[in-house]
Amino acid sequence: MGDLLEEHDLGQWRRTHYSSEISPSIGDEIVVMGWVASVRDHGNILFIILKDMHGEIQITAKKGECDDSLFELAKEVKEHSSIGIRGKVRPQEKAPNGAEIVPAEIRAFSIAKKAAPFMTQGKTSTVGIDTRLDLRAVDLRRNYLGSVFRIRQTVLNSVREFLDRQEFIEVNTPKMIATATEGGAALFPIFYYDREAFLAQSPQLYKEQLTMAFENVFEIGPIFRAEPSRTNRHLSEAISIDIERAFADYGDVMSILERMIVSIVETVKERNADDLKFLELELPAVELPFPKYSYSDLIDKLQEAGEHIQWGDDVTPQVMKSLQDDRLGGFYFIIDWPTSTKPFYVKPGSADGGRVCESFDLMFGPLEMSSGSTRINRKDQLVERMSKQGLKPDAFDYHLRVFDYGVPPHAGFGLGLERLMMALIKVENIRDTTLYPRDIDRLAP
Ligand code: ATP
Ligand code: MG
Repeated sequence: MGDLLEEHDLGQWRRTHYSSEISPSIGDEIVVMGWVASVRDHGNILFIILKDMHGEIQITAKKGECDDSLFELAKEVKEHSSIGIRGKVRPQEKAPNGAEIVPAEIRAFSIAKKAAPFMTQGKTSTVGIDTRLDLRAVDLRRNYLGSVFRIRQTVLNSVREFLDRQEFIEVNTPKMIATATEGGAALFPIFYYDREAFLAQSPQLYKEQLTMAFENVFEIGPIFRAEPSRTNRHLSEAISIDIERAFADYGDVMSILERMIVSIVETVKERNADDLKFLELELPAVELPFPKYSYSDLIDKLQEAGEHIQWGDDVTPQVMKSLQDDRLGGFYFIIDWPTSTKPFYVKPGSADGGRVCESFDLMFGPLEMSSGSTRINRKDQLVERMSKQGLKPDAFDYHLRVFDYGVPPHAGFGLGLERLMMALIKVENIRDTTLYPRDIDRLAP
């Protein structure tokens, strides 16, 4: 026992059908491939559930029905092994797709050497996230995460389709940069030949510059932030959906953002009905326009609710949780933030000596999804704001010099993809919305 099953190369074997294409009416012999999700051994009958990228299919080996040597071989198949099966389909009401495969040949490509420390079926996992992350690729075989990442795929496609319709051009800006985008400590230094450089914390300055050439640009790419705190909503490497639009202000890009969110929700409903059903998930209700609250009004409300918060403080999820307001459960904007809380490139308003700026955060409940604003497009203003925030304009010479050549009025936002996924899928920990999370404790796998 235990060594009948041998590993084979793929050779000339090719899959003829995905699990989703299997139906009881297929008459010919077929070949399916995937990995073993589960094995149930009832002595004289053995059920193997084979999983591939589209779903599951049942293989049924019965003593007396398939020949003895094949039956003995089937009994050695282990969960998580990668295998191929040649066989015939027949109806089976209780199996996925109403069909089962009677094997004629089993080929093991890679036999699992160990039992995985967790199950891949079912919606919830019984083990902690660190155990799962240590073996992430195996964890990602779980049906739950399969659905999460199929939905992520739709979100990204839907963003690209939406922005393409709005005449945005997709760009990729450098991730190795010479100076901080916003100043501050959150940067990862790297060696760049004989110099120090940094990983980009946002594409901000590049996407702004590109409005002078292309008007409307967007980027979907990584942002790197040395976040010293351990939270369920921060990663050291996240994916940001960034847009920048010429001849527009923050009101215009808020309108783009809310319509983009609606388009995403509708597209996921349409294309991921099976995943939503499996997750037993109802997507957030979205209705245009999203509510807008001014920062100042919100501070008043928070103070009324007994929070010790001052005008000028940042609004944290902990603080927001003290507001018992149904309208703050879904998507909404907080607009007109104190100029002092926002980066130097954000345009101060014209009233009150520019005490508040033309800025917004898109929230989902207590969680920040996106920050955006009208940007400063005049060089003298930009230099003044840099100096006020303690940044050295000289260090930004490479950026400031293009402002001598007619940078258009523009506005934009950065939307965190993983944060958006948290809102859509209702996951508590941002780590489950990314394949290989990076945080202060984790740099592998
Ligand atoms: P927070 O206050 O939540 O730390 P932030 O205001 O520092 O976020 P921004 O610089 O405004 O973040 O970045 C734009 C968006 O990028 C955020 O609204 C968020 O969705 C996402 N984002 C920023 N930092 C992270 C991070 N460390 N991990 C995951 N997403 C992030
Ligand atoms: Mg922000």
